[in-house]
Amino acid sequence: MKYISTRGAAPILTFEEAMLTGLARDGGLYVPETIPQMAAEEIAALAGLSYEEVAFRVMRPFVGDTFSDAEFGDIIARAYAGFGHSARAPLVELSSNHFLLELFHGPTLAFKDFAMQLIGQLFEVALARRGERVTIVGATSGDTGSAAIEAFRGLDAVDVFILYPHGRVSEVQRRQMTTPTEANVHAIAIDGHFDDCQARLKDMFNDFDFRDGVRLAGVNSINWARVLAQVVYYFSSAVALGAPHRKVSFTVPTGNFGDIFAGYIAKRMGLGIDQLVVATNQNDILYRCLSTGAYQTQEVIPSISPSMDIQVSSNFERALFDAYDRDGAAVAQLMEDLKSTGGFCVSQGVQQRLANDFTSGRASEAQTTAAIAHWHQHSGELLCPHSAIGVHVAEAMRDSATPMITLATAHPAKFPAAVEAAAGLHPPLPERMADLYDRPERMSRVANDLSALKAFIEERITS
Ligand SMILES: *Cc1c(COP(=O)(O)O)cnc(C)c1O
Repeated sequence: MKYISTRGAAPILTFEEAMLTGLARDGGLYVPETIPQMAAEEIAALAGLSYEEVAFRVMRPFVGDTFSDAEFGDIIARAYAGFGHSARAPLVELSSNHFLLELFHGPTLAFKDFAMQLIGQLFEVALARRGERVTIVGATSGDTGSAAIEAFRGLDAVDVFILYPHGRVSEVQRRQMTTPTEANVHAIAIDGHFDDCQARLKDMFNDFDFRDGVRLAGVNSINWARVLAQVVYYFSSAVALGAPHRKVSFTVPTGNFGDIFAGYIAKRMGLGIDQLVVATNQNDILYRCLSTGAYQTQEVIPSISPSMDIQVSSNFERALFDAYDRDGAAVAQLMEDLKSTGGFCVSQGVQQRLANDFTSGRASEAQTTAAIAHWHQHSGELLCPHSAIGVHVAEAMRDSATPMITLATAHPAKFPAAVEAAAGLHPPLPERMADLYDRPERMSRVANDLSALKAFIEERITS
């Protein structure tokens, strides 16, 4: 299995190389050269298997010969052993034919753990074999950073630096990043928005002297291995509701387009998906682009769903690459326009192709709050604000004949202020992390400035 860049001008890599590299050297994102297919019988055979077994069968063809079957099976087992639910990704019925896929039973209470715990184990095995170490730098609106620090803390071959927007993450998110005591993990508060953190991260990757000097590796959702890990729960949940014998739909609270893109990959592999619904908050660039064809950035407006406060949605580039018939030069031109003018327009043909795969809706702050209150009253389910956006949009978009699965992307206790304001009830942290508020914090504050960040990292890496 080979991986190619969405901008068509970077080396073709193996799974292992693409995973360790993150962003392609031409600024693009790696995607598989071809999408492996799963026949209806193979999908049917997933019924009744454990989450780990489904993960093995769905991901195996993408990994190529990077890992042996035994190695890969062990990696998956270690990745999900720390989850607080034996099903890993349980489904609960919210209302008739509307299901919630609970993706928040991992160690940091958000779906990011599914990918990050796997990546931690993949990196550890690959780097030990190569006798190498890497510096991981990540940008986070809150959940990626906590998941990355949790997954890599104490591992031998990596130093981890996480950039987060100062004052714009929830207290639980911040504490999950600032309380681990291992010397190889660093939380860095940046004066700016998430998009600033993401822009500085891209600057570091495009500074080849720095990139090669510190052996930079990326674990943001641009990393193909993250998308791949997320494909698994589309299969496990669809099969639980009758796939391949009947179609299901998904609604996905979306920011960087990584999670919903994993659903698109599942569909391309052969899973019968009717609707893939992109749900956004008031930062609705994806909703606007999918409905008008114009991808136009605006100021980020902070919301009660901070993990979706994004205007530059990195993984959308992967969807554009397919919509443009995998024409890397066309994608490179769009990204050039985005950089120089703050936006671009897709052609009508491309807009139509995107519409064949994705529909979209959005929720205002008031609708989000109302959804939290409504579903708590009517189903007893306490939703985090991101999941509430998904549920609100799903209710508006779904038809009653097709099962709708809404991805619940975080535990309500990760966003206690917003949940309490809406439902009048303080969501308690799960037992296993009840002392989070008592642990001492450790973080550094660095200016939104490339050279300051480079110096900070160079001073602190182990080798
Ligand atoms: C990251 C995140 C999202 C958005 O996921 P993307 O893959 O960036 O689209 C939604 N909800 C929560 C809780 C998240 O942490």
